[in-house]
Amino acid sequence: MEQIADEQINESDSMSMLQEINEKSIDPASQIILHKAEQEGIETAWDRYEKQIPQCSFGQLGICCRNCNMGQCRIDPFGEATEKGICGATADIIVARNLLRTIAAGAAAHSDHARGCSANL
Ligand code: SF4
Repeated sequence: MEQIADEQINESDSMSMLQEINEKSIDPASQIILHKAEQEGIETAWDRYEKQIPQCSFGQLGICCRNCNMGQCRIDPFGEATEKGICGATADIIVARNLLRTIAAGAAAHSDHARGCSANL
């Protein structure tokens, strides 16, 4: 409970709510924001995450592919059913391809920051 600034803690706050906030983030600034959001009923990424539970096991393993219109394809992680996508991609290929596409998309999404920095220089 010490992680949230004392002035942010209202006497009416329940211990369980503070415990829940501390479990969401160890960052004191984030805890203050989460506390304020909770008080004002503002939805956060943590709330949206909890609404997604249980998440898709295929997606968590990275063995679901939607890269083309022949899929979506899912690889059986136990090797008892499908071992390849329609195009012939194995689990290793699908995982590697998904990872690279995710990295490329993330980097592209933040390239504007680099452009802003270079413009300032
Ligand atoms: S595994 Fe191959 S066929 Fe299936 S969705 Fe991905 S790219 Fe398309």
